[in-house]
Amino acid sequence: MIRVGVNGYGTIGKRVADAVAAQPDMEVAGVAKTQPNFEAHTAVERGYSMYAAIPERAPLFGDAGIEIAGVVDELVADADVIVDCTPSGIGAENRSMYASYDTPAIFQGGEDASVAQVSFNARANYDDARGADTVRVVSCNTTGLSRLVAPLEEEYGVEKVRATLVRRGGDPSQHSRGPINDILPDPIGIPSHHGPDVQTIFPDLSIETMGLKVPATLMHVHALNVTLGSDVTAAHVRQLLESQSRVYVIPEGIGLDGAGRLKDFALDAGRPRGDLWENCVWGESIAVEGRDLYLFQAVHQESDVVPENVDAVRAVTDSADAEESIERTNETLGIGL
Ligand code: NAD
Repeated sequence: MIRVGVNGYGTIGKRVADAVAAQPDMEVAGVAKTQPNFEAHTAVERGYSMYAAIPERAPLFGDAGIEIAGVVDELVADADVIVDCTPSGIGAENRSMYASYDTPAIFQGGEDASVAQVSFNARANYDDARGADTVRVVSCNTTGLSRLVAPLEEEYGVEKVRATLVRRGGDPSQHSRGPINDILPDPIGIPSHHGPDVQTIFPDLSIETMGLKVPATLMHVHALNVTLGSDVTAAHVRQLLESQSRVYVIPEGIGLDGAGRLKDFALDAGRPRGDLWENCVWGESIAVEGRDLYLFQAVHQESDVVPENVDAVRAVTDSADAEESIERTNETLGIGL
C-alpha cells in the first residue's frame, strides 16, 4: 500500500484525499490543515488522521474537539508520497521540508513550473514522472487542454492551437473572488499564462491562449481552434475524442447546453460533490474546415486534476505504467459518462 499524505485540505486536497482512499493500492496516511474548520471536522469523520500544518496552531484543534495525530513534519516523515494542495506559492515554500525527509512530493498547478522536475498530465507524459522526486500536476485549464492536444497530436499532428478561455471568477466557496458583474479580459493581451503552461507538457507545441474572467463559479469554458497537421473530418475527430477515457463528448439532444446543466447532471448521477473529472466537449460544436478544428469544451476546475494526482502518485512510486494507472483510477472513481 502506498501511504499518501495530503498537505492542504481545501478544494483540491479534500478531493485528492477521497480519491486516494478509493484506490486499492493506496491509503491516506493523514491530512494536514492550518485550522480546525468545517473541513477538518469532515476529514475526521471520514477517518483521516489529522495533522497540524502550522505547529503553533496545534492547540486550536484540541480546543475544537479534534484530536490530532501530530504536526505536518510527522506526516511527511510517515508518508511514502506527499500531495501538496496548499494555496499557490506555499507549495514552493514546503518543498525543502519534503526534501529533508526524502519524501517524493506532488505539487499543484498554482505553483511555478520550476517547483518540480516534471510538469504532469497522465495522458500526455506519465512516463516522464516515473520515479521522479517532485512532480507538478498542471492546472485545471492546462489539464483540460493537454487531454485534447495529446490525442490530436498523436493522430494528426498539431500545427497551431488557439484557445480562448472563459474562466470562472472563483470556486463556489470563494466568496471574496470576482468579478460579480463584469467581463474581464485577463490578462489584457496575449498570451495568458495557460499557453506557456501547456508548453511545459508539450515543449514544441505552437499555442496562443487568451483569457477572460466572468461572474460564474461552476466551470471554465474553452473555445478552441486547432490547425491540424492533416485534413480530417469532424466525424473522425469526434470518434477520436469519444475514445479518450477522460473526455466526455456531450451527445446532442439531451439538453446539456451549458455548465449549469452539466453540474446538475453530475449531481443527479450521484457524483461526489457534483464532480466532473472529464473534459466535457460539446459534440455538435466539433467542426472542421480544411485542417482547422473548432470546438467548445467545459472543464470542472475543482475536480479534473484529481485523477491526475492519483496517477502522479503511481508515477513517482513507479508502481504502475500509464495505462494500468489511468484504468485503475478511472474504474475506482467511476470516470466515464
Ligand atoms: P484552497 O484555498 O481551496 O485550499 C488550500 C488549503 O490549504 C486551505 O484549506 C488552506 O487553509 C490550506 N493552507 C494554507 N496554508 C497552508 C499551509 N502552510 N500548510 C498547509 N495547508 C495550508 O485552494 P485550492 O483551490 O485547493 O488550490 C490548491 C492548489 O491547487 C493551488 O496550487 C491551485 O492553484 C491548484 N488548483 C486549484 C484549482 C481550483 O480551481 N480550485 C484547480 C486546479 C489546481
